Amino acid sequence: MNYNFHFIVGSQDLYGDDVLRQVNEHSKIMAEGFTQRLRYAVQWTPVVRNSAEIEAAIAAANHDPHCAGIITWMHTFSPSKMWIRGLTRLQKPLLHINTQFNKAIPWDSIDMDFMNLNQSAHGDREHGHITARLRLPRTVLAGHWECEILHQRMAQWQRAAVGVAESRCLRVLRVSDNMRDVAVTEGDKVEAHIKFGWQVDHYGVGDMITLVQQVTTDEIAAQMEQYREHYEIATDDIAAVEYQARVQVALQRFMQDEGFGAFHTNFQDLQQLQQLPGLAAQDLMRQGFGFAGEGDWKTAALCRIMKRMAADLPGGTGFMEDYTYDFSRRLNMGAHMLEVCPTFSAEKPVIRVEPLGIGDREPPARLTFKATAGNAILATIVDMGDRFRMIVNDVQCVQQPHDMPKLPVACVLWKPLPSLETSAEAWILAGGAHHSVLSYGLDAETMRHFAEMLNMEFVHIGAHTTIPALRQELHMNDHLRWG
Ligand code: MN
Repeated sequence: MNYNFHFIVGSQDLYGDDVLRQVNEHSKIMAEGFTQRLRYAVQWTPVVRNSAEIEAAIAAANHDPHCAGIITWMHTFSPSKMWIRGLTRLQKPLLHINTQFNKAIPWDSIDMDFMNLNQSAHGDREHGHITARLRLPRTVLAGHWECEILHQRMAQWQRAAVGVAESRCLRVLRVSDNMRDVAVTEGDKVEAHIKFGWQVDHYGVGDMITLVQQVTTDEIAAQMEQYREHYEIATDDIAAVEYQARVQVALQRFMQDEGFGAFHTNFQDLQQLQQLPGLAAQDLMRQGFGFAGEGDWKTAALCRIMKRMAADLPGGTGFMEDYTYDFSRRLNMGAHMLEVCPTFSAEKPVIRVEPLGIGDREPPARLTFKATAGNAILATIVDMGDRFRMIVNDVQCVQQPHDMPKLPVACVLWKPLPSLETSAEAWILAGGAHHSVLSYGLDAETMRHFAEMLNMEFVHIGAHTTIPALRQELHMNDHLRWG
């Protein structure tokens, strides 16, 4: 989807045509400037002067399927009771920028006309009051409109709004149910549908097996060609790789035909599937599908959304699981039994076929590789019973210091901030899952915007985190309303 954002600039008739003409000229220049500098276009709309025009502009944003949010700004003074009717109908994320067309005060020429035109310091406070009074989910960013820091912050907000748009149309394919007895992968699917827009639908493994059986040898050959293009094949057991190709063709076609953006498997329920999908799941993640293991539909959904948010950014985004610590280097090692996303790779991934103790089936083909070093985040969503909570941890991924010749899966090593010990204590106190989404491109501020737009609790673990403050934050959040 080619998303855009509507720029809605407020004023009133009091100023007269000449001033309103200048407001339109300036806001047109600004919209073009933003569009040049940001990932997503900022679409100019004519200045709104009264309640009816404001309501119409907001209705147009609501009804435009390409519009992922609105950006408001008050060049002049726009009495904010005029905004109540429109803003109470707003269905898209709101960014209020407090900026000014003119950068510096023209000391020699400034007069009352200039001051009345350039009065966003005044008008944006009136606008901010009504968005605060209405308790609207919103972001306020201040700075001169040509300032690069403002552009970077607007880009973060845009990305989060695109995540919300993707979330609201997401369909998640459940192949089987959650892993037996596991708590953290469970959750309220109806509430997730209401709050996030996720349509989470179950299909039996038998339904998938029927589709797998229908895949032709030509389709398998075409998929094998794809594997050869992206990966190194380091096994003689080509039949095992072809089986993953067969499963992938079936899953991919079904998801594309039915409009699914994410899926999960469950190794406890494979029925007549000969292998747990490993390479198949990994290559689907490479193409942008969300995935998680063990019936974890929440992480699969978040994986899809974050992949879409990060689509144009360098570095990978995909499913991750906390696995093993290295206390000597104070590192956490993440991996999964097979399904580590190849977008994390620092090299051309290698296809291997190795036995897998879990799942009780034939040795599955999977991709192995060494991961990229660099700053990243881990994000997870858990269901606290009365609300969803997002937890984000800042991490520094490091190069693998030693070969691990006996480990037949890809992995990522990271130093969590503020330290391995404090990060682990904070994540566990917050009830964070062992499943998460790792992203090199996105940052915590972007995810905070995303959570705020969806009225979801947000817990950030980073360089600033101390355990006493975090405990207090969690305690306070238990007393807030998240409905
Ligand atoms: Mn797992």
